[in-house]
Amino acid sequence: MKKIQFLIIAIICLGFDISYGQQQSKPHKTDHNAAMVVNGNSSLLTSADALKELKAGNLRFVDNHLINTNYKEQIEQTKSGQKPHSVILTCMDSRVPPEIIFDQGIGNIFVLRVAGNVEDDNMLGSMEYAVEHTSSKLLVVMGHSHCGAVTGAVQHAGSGMLTQLLDQIDPAIPNDHNDPDIIEKTVKNSVDITIADILAKSKVIREMFDEHKIAIVGAYYDIETGVVTFMK
Ligand SMILES: [Zn+2]
Repeated sequence: MKKIQFLIIAIICLGFDISYGQQQSKPHKTDHNAAMVVNGNSSLLTSADALKELKAGNLRFVDNHLINTNYKEQIEQTKSGQKPHSVILTCMDSRVPPEIIFDQGIGNIFVLRVAGNVEDDNMLGSMEYAVEHTSSKLLVVMGHSHCGAVTGAVQHAGSGMLTQLLDQIDPAIPNDHNDPDIIEKTVKNSVDITIADILAKSKVIREMFDEHKIAIVGAYYDIETGVVTFMK
């Protein structure tokens, strides 16, 4: 048994509060440490545990109480393998980095990014790899406020290869083009449509979802506050 594994078990047996990842600061009074595992042990998680950890991680981020920032130590812990608990499909927007806004560091989440967080066959293949061949239990599709891709779709501003990408967002645009919340509503509709598309197109994901082996949820990130709201 590796020394680090022995230490982890010893700490758990002694009843200490071991947090998710590396704890670098004293625990905040809020429940920031949802998943009682460390990097590399996430196969212990259920989809509910994974969701709880993402919510706790975003709370740590918003409160500026990050615990997963010792990247050198995380490299050591993950160099022989990875067991990410979740897959996050989100936008390429530079203000929406999932590893940071969920305080997950290295080795805890798969991240798929494309403008407007739409799915395609390559995204589906990547998700299937994650849930079928690794430990991932939770799929998250996350849109965000002030999304340039969604704004482009609403304004039909595409050109070149961008046009076909924005066309994929088109069905999410509400009929009332004068709605002041049209961007936010389109983002959230698009997340719902993308989740439905994932379940319709991927037999692997659909079956694992129906058998409650994995869960899939939508989320909305507010770039002005740093807060992630999970939809439903
Ligand atoms: Zn965006």
